[in-house]
Amino acid sequence: MNCKQKLDLRFFTRDFILSRGGDVDDSGQVMEAVLPEELAEELTVPEFLDLGFSAEGSETGKVHYGSPLLDKMVQVARERIPVTRAVLHFDYLKTAGFERLIQELFTLRNGVGKVGNTAETRADYIILYCDYLAQSDEQKEGLLTLVYNRDNAVEVPAMADGLAGVEMKFERNPAPVALSEKEISRLEQLVQKSGAIHLAEELKDFEKSMNRRFRRGVKNLNEYYQALREEMEKNLQRSGLSEQLINDRKEKIALIPAELAAKRKDLFKKYTIRTRMKLGGAMLLKSPVVKVFFHVAVGRMKQTFTLLYNPVTKSIEPLPCHGCGRGTYQLFFGKEMEILCPECG
Ligand SMILES: [Zn+2]
Repeated sequence: MNCKQKLDLRFFTRDFILSRGGDVDDSGQVMEAVLPEELAEELTVPEFLDLGFSAEGSETGKVHYGSPLLDKMVQVARERIPVTRAVLHFDYLKTAGFERLIQELFTLRNGVGKVGNTAETRADYIILYCDYLAQSDEQKEGLLTLVYNRDNAVEVPAMADGLAGVEMKFERNPAPVALSEKEISRLEQLVQKSGAIHLAEELKDFEKSMNRRFRRGVKNLNEYYQALREEMEKNLQRSGLSEQLINDRKEKIALIPAELAAKRKDLFKKYTIRTRMKLGGAMLLKSPVVKVFFHVAVGRMKQTFTLLYNPVTKSIEPLPCHGCGRGTYQLFFGKEMEILCPECG
């Protein structure tokens, strides 16, 4: 398990417990947790427990892929998607130097831009925990963390990693958050789109390994049938064979290509990767941000766009493309000054 996966598990576990009315102290190596009686019973663990995040270790609870405790948490989480709420705190917010940052990040494919005033404000984000299962000759499971700006639904991928070093204040026993149906369906679409991209990235090594095995399998098959054919052809040369036997063997040799093709198809099936991904939890996050007004002129048309400086990623968030909705740093301004990404404009 790599470091990032461990972190995702840790986040998921902490949010899961907090969203179910428990409490955690996550300041040490081991996570100390207090669970409400009901939840402890549901998970069949003690109400007070130390959680470790590797298969080794002597903690009362162990959370790692394949551990019964994680399986149970995911199962419980799925019955009702837990939504935790947290607020981020920063002692210092960047106040200057946006001009350079914007110049480095954004490309204006038509038009010119100028940075205007800035204003401190807050923005809402949603973190989605998706658990996935990839099945092939072997199986691999894990959690993906996806972060979106809630106002414009643009993904802020770097935020998932950046959150590890940030002070988060959780709302204690928050009132249940009801996401509107519209938002849920929008989230599902986002997860399908960008989740698939992240999942492909996450499964790159797994895919490579399955491909390697498939190629090795095909090579072995080819060699086996090649040798078989040679052997059979050699046997045909032997003297004293009846015509009937010769015809039988010739027929068998003629069937080899079809047999090989069928075996290859089986191998392909065996090493094909099937994946499924489910939303396991969500967290609403409020964070201070800096609004940076960006005045753009294209010919005689002028418009002011609001850029967001995100203190978690220490960067400016991309702007949503009017065509596909994805975030982009390469701006093309359409007839109505709408933003289009390179694929859409
Ligand atoms: Zn687009």
